Amino acid sequence: MPYVITEACVDVMDRSCLLQCPVDCIHEGVRMLYIDPGACIDCAACEPSCPQGAIHLDEAIPANLTKYVSVNAEFFGSDEFGPADPRTGCPAGDHPVVAGLAAR
Ligand code: SF4
Ligand code: SF4
Repeated sequence: MPYVITEACVDVMDRSCLLQCPVDCIHEGVRMLYIDPGACIDCAACEPSCPQGAIHLDEAIPANLTKYVSVNAEFFGSDEFGPADPRTGCPAGDHPVVAGLAAR
């Protein structure tokens, strides 16, 4: 039951959540941040830190945002989203769902 970052983070990325995560499982894309579901320990520390209300428990995510469960997971499960950032090992781009959003 990992936590998930959703669309309200896109083009905001103030990074408040990064400071809260005890296991460093929140990683930066270009337009939003993503939570690695394989590393998240469900501590909930990040959720109240987000001024955008972008972070949700996957089981409690609003119906219109359910696609972000796979958006977060797929960001870490594939190299198709851009070359890995040598610092984090994560893709340097964004998931196509995020990359395709209109500028906010
Ligand atoms: S719930 Fe805890 S472990 Fe998971 S991303 Fe948020 S701060 Fe990190
Ligand atoms: S605190 Fe919220 S808006 Fe800021 S980077 Fe984290 S998820 Fe995105």
